[in-house]
Amino acid sequence: MSNSAVEALDTLLNHVNASEITPLRLRDWHKLIEWCIDGSSYYWLSDGKQFHPAEGGQADFILKLSEDTLLRISEGKLPFFIGLWGTGDIQFEGSFGDAYRLGYVFLSDKRERRVIFISHCWLNINTRFPEGCSFAGANVPLIKTLLDAGLGIIQMPCPEYECLGLEKWLYGEVILDDIRACFRIKAEVVLKQIKDYQALGFDIVGVLGMNPSPSCGVTVAKGKGTMLGTDRDTSEEPVPGIFIEELQKLLNQAQIEDIRFFGVRRTLIGESDLDEKIVSLQAFIQA
Ligand code: SF4
Repeated sequence: MSNSAVEALDTLLNHVNASEITPLRLRDWHKLIEWCIDGSSYYWLSDGKQFHPAEGGQADFILKLSEDTLLRISEGKLPFFIGLWGTGDIQFEGSFGDAYRLGYVFLSDKRERRVIFISHCWLNINTRFPEGCSFAGANVPLIKTLLDAGLGIIQMPCPEYECLGLEKWLYGEVILDDIRACFRIKAEVVLKQIKDYQALGFDIVGVLGMNPSPSCGVTVAKGKGTMLGTDRDTSEEPVPGIFIEELQKLLNQAQIEDIRFFGVRRTLIGESDLDEKIVSLQAFIQA
């Protein structure tokens, strides 16, 4: 193998090992990789944290490519996975799972790996209560704020839809304990997603709820008992809604303490304070 090919492989190896995400991606993945460059072989061994040059042996995964392709990859001119999956510049022998893992190890695309979890109806207002929508499909200014910040938006389930029906005809028909139990099951889905994203080192900006929902309010909830039981008190209280409460409990039990919660008040027809809400949301994102 030429010196330039060896240097290119060393450059790649150093680049991969320098990333703080690499140990997360190589976790529990102990494999011998064979780079076959124009017929000459070079080996890397993953110790579950980093790659190390290796002497050789029975490879778990074999990459076959030309020196020119290797140089283009090391110079950032050809993304590794594009060469492997898209252009056919790299042939491989091994599992697709390993191919994908290597694709992420060498990831060079534009994703910023920052996400925010949002209440379902910020993005799909069709689950709102009657007369609760001042937008046709989504709260466009709020969603645009998240998109402009480069965030991936993870839409949490609408707990009221899931547990009371799409138009919530079971409001007041289900006792509070049953609703809480149902909401908890839906919150477990969010907990799993939070764990998954944290395990791979994503920046979770936070959970954006909707004040003063009795379910998704973060700092204000309006009439939890009224809407989700038989209580007739419609006053607002400075407490989280039931879904957010259950999610926070699950996070506490899982000893996940670094998830920030933020509540933006919903906007009804005729209300005109959306600009202030957007400013507060931008401050939350940037904090
Ligand atoms: S329960 Fe939550 S997601 Fe569903 S409509 Fe109410 S605030 Fe939106």
